[in-house]
Amino acid sequence: MKVQALDELYKRISVCPDCDLCKTRTHAVPGEGPPGAEVMLVGEGPGFYEDQQARPFVGPAGRFLEELLASVGLSRSQVYITNVVKCRPPDNRDPLPSEIEACRKYLQNQIELIRPRVIVTLGRYSLAWFFPKDTISKVHGHIRQRDGIFFLHMYHPAAALHAGNLRKTILEDFKRVPEALEKARAAAQPQPAADPAAEQMRLF
Ligand code: URA
Repeated sequence: MKVQALDELYKRISVCPDCDLCKTRTHAVPGEGPPGAEVMLVGEGPGFYEDQQARPFVGPAGRFLEELLASVGLSRSQVYITNVVKCRPPDNRDPLPSEIEACRKYLQNQIELIRPRVIVTLGRYSLAWFFPKDTISKVHGHIRQRDGIFFLHMYHPAAALHAGNLRKTILEDFKRVPEALEKARAAAQPQPAADPAAEQMRLF
């Protein structure tokens, strides 16, 4: 059911005409990962290699992302990876507000279908998609909960390729993924009844 819904969503994304990025893309890049993934990683938008291969994070930033995942004992095949915009902005420019809004429904739909326990936002566009008032320099490395989902905010992995001093910060922030997942799993456990008498009444 979920697999079929995701498949239909991918088909819609691959032919989406809702903004001008459809005129310059080679391929749309819907996202990938197991439908039952507990962790979803949300980047900014496809770059050159992603546009060629129709897969997210397959270029240099992707290699660093795989290193980050391995550092916490995870692999690509265990997480769901997607982006705020599904088509490459020409020359890797920043996505426009109108493009982000035209694409909003797709990420929304993916979150509803996958229902991840943890969302890791990669970079400021991903942070702003969920928390538009926040700034990455203040909230990176923080874990918080909203609507039953735990969020961990990170600088974009590509930032480490341009600004080498961010590499250590990104590695340190990413180390909190298992903690976010533990917190999310614990929060999803049914809570014991506070009042034993109330529990008795519920049982009879
Ligand atoms: N950068 C992103 O934000 N997403 C990708 O898929 C690749 C690079």
